Amino acid sequence: MNKEINLDRDKIDKIDKAIIELLGERKRITDELISSKKEQNLPVEDLQRENNIVSNLQLFAKNTLSPELVKDIYSSIFRYNKINFLNQNIQKSELFEYLKSNKFIISGPCAVESLEQIDSIANKLKNIGINLLRGGCFKPRTSPDSFQGLGTVGLEYLSKTAKKYSLYSVSEITSFYQWEMGFENIDIIQIGSRNAMNFELLKSIGKITASTQKPVILKRGFWMTISEFLSAANYIINEGNKSVILCLRGIRTFEQINSEFRFTPDLASILELKAKTDLPIIFDPSHSAGDSKYVIQLAEAALELGADGLTIESHCSPECALSDAKQCVFPDSLIPLIEKISKD
Ligand code: PEP
Ligand code: MN
Repeated sequence: MNKEINLDRDKIDKIDKAIIELLGERKRITDELISSKKEQNLPVEDLQRENNIVSNLQLFAKNTLSPELVKDIYSSIFRYNKINFLNQNIQKSELFEYLKSNKFIISGPCAVESLEQIDSIANKLKNIGINLLRGGCFKPRTSPDSFQGLGTVGLEYLSKTAKKYSLYSVSEITSFYQWEMGFENIDIIQIGSRNAMNFELLKSIGKITASTQKPVILKRGFWMTISEFLSAANYIINEGNKSVILCLRGIRTFEQINSEFRFTPDLASILELKAKTDLPIIFDPSHSAGDSKYVIQLAEAALELGADGLTIESHCSPECALSDAKQCVFPDSLIPLIEKISKD
């Protein structure tokens, strides 16, 4: 290596160390500032101030660095400082830790239809050894004329029933305004396929669940690539909630032109996601198959491929279900799957 190159490298190394020292000092001061804001009950985030810092520095750097670069560097600094602060202040969700270390099955109806309906299926599921009860209350239906769910009343039935049988409740939120309509009482929040790229919803849910680390199931948008899916999860994680569970639920391909399957089961994505992330990966055979006759075999295949869990729609009288009747299974048909995961 010639002398000049070595000298330049020495200079760069010195500059890098100085940058790191200054960033450390900056972080120490912002940590103090954040703590005193918390003591005075002031909001930690001040977007106006962040924007001012960036535009002043863009002006300051106008002959040396591009405005985009300055913005990128400072977005990372701001984000890192906030995430770091949140990390020091969160309690880990015990439920998420449990789900990370045990294979699990979530089951229940597509939609909560009445107190009696959710009570009878919860009782049945509890008896066969399932402890995670799902039930949609705000249903994202393709047609506005289909049953839309019971909304707030449904959430009340679901959380009350889950408590009665000592089960954890799971329900889908479709818009952030619904949060205060009962989602505080739901143990696991689901974001459905159709909202998987609703970034404002993802961010709001990430933020509101950051302090509790309440688990969030993010379902794959049926048109999404794997990298888009992982980026969507980061929208939640970057707001401070790391308890994200990824759910594969079938994707739309040319097969849907004449296949019986509602969506093409994206089973191979289990392998890819397992290699790319440590987040738990679960599979939903109900919405991919769209037909109860395929549900159990698909679920078995997902477990074989290493899925960490399953979410399966069940109903005590599937033929009478108000939504997704064709794909709902009788609770008893889940018994072989429960036996399989308890052996793993
Ligand atoms: C559901 O699980 O209730 C649901 C609507 O599924 P998806 O968002 O995958 O269509
Ligand atoms: Mn459904």
